[in-house]
Amino acid sequence: MRQRFFLLLLLICSFFFSFSQTKSENIVVVTMDGLRWQEIFGGADSLLTYDTTAKYSYKYVQNHFWAPTAFERRKKLMPFFWSEIASKGVLLGNRNYGNYFNNANPYWFSYPGYNEIFTGYPDTAVNSNDKIPNKNENIFEYLSKFPEFKGKAAVFGSWDVFASIFNEGRSGLLVNDGFRDLQGSLNEKQKLFNELQHQMPDLFHGGERLDAATFNIAFEYMKTHTPRLMFFGLGDTDEFAHAGQYDYYLDAAQNADGWIRQIWEYIQSAPEYKDKTTLIITTDHGRGLAAGSNWRHHGSRIAEASEMWMAAIGPSIKATGESKQKGQAYQGQIAATIAVMAGKEFKPTHPVLPPLSFSAK
Ligand SMILES: [Zn+2]
Repeated sequence: MRQRFFLLLLLICSFFFSFSQTKSENIVVVTMDGLRWQEIFGGADSLLTYDTTAKYSYKYVQNHFWAPTAFERRKKLMPFFWSEIASKGVLLGNRNYGNYFNNANPYWFSYPGYNEIFTGYPDTAVNSNDKIPNKNENIFEYLSKFPEFKGKAAVFGSWDVFASIFNEGRSGLLVNDGFRDLQGSLNEKQKLFNELQHQMPDLFHGGERLDAATFNIAFEYMKTHTPRLMFFGLGDTDEFAHAGQYDYYLDAAQNADGWIRQIWEYIQSAPEYKDKTTLIITTDHGRGLAAGSNWRHHGSRIAEASEMWMAAIGPSIKATGESKQKGQAYQGQIAATIAVMAGKEFKPTHPVLPPLSFSAK
């Protein structure tokens, strides 16, 4: 294991000059589970848009998401990504330019992916989606030991395994996942969102609520409590892909883009956050290619499922837009990057991949 880890360190070269050394007082992370880099950088996939044998509504996909070029299609699918983030932030992972962003862990499914993002450690012992309390320390937990972050970190997710991934019991982080109601003193909106999540269809059968519930519960918490470290873990994209619903999968990605816009606009309007908050957006894993239905699946038997992407915007990010630099980076570098953005060094007891490189302005 250690050998594999150090081999990875050698592979990582400092080529992503996308980060400035300006600190961020607040860091918000949003993930869209299993959303492919192919859609981020190319919009609706042509094979899947014109698959007349598909069980999903390919007509809907054509009407809502199709355009002749990839540049138009991606803008249609993710308008916030391809306006605000592309002009003021950075987007990593367009493999058409040799800009590679991958899982470093060898499994390419959710728990190992989220573990890698937040602990910086592509731990081979983390190899199932079972609700096992994570033995690895995550970056929110680590930063919460500093007085300025103490009690100011919150984790919201659609999937009910986040409490284990973030080891709620040990870390003491506020975690609201699955169908759990938000506790504490609540305003009228929060009471309504708690109720609504139980009135929405339980499409994914028990363990995972729809993202519309997660987003609204989390966003209202953000406005009322202004946490300094915050995570929105969205899941619809992965669930609809597994179900073979490309129409709903694209809808979910587009909805998330709209929510991310709302989060960013709120950040830039609130004195607690404005110009001192960096927003990081990524995914836990990739998926297969369109051909042969592999786009529905992921995991180590799907050759392309470790291919992923990352985007960011905020004071710690240089506005370099879509990166066309050749090179390789890993999701496991995000944890140490968050620490550097916060003006700290991530030094837990387990090994950690190095931060994405910073360069002096
Ligand atoms: Zn999945």
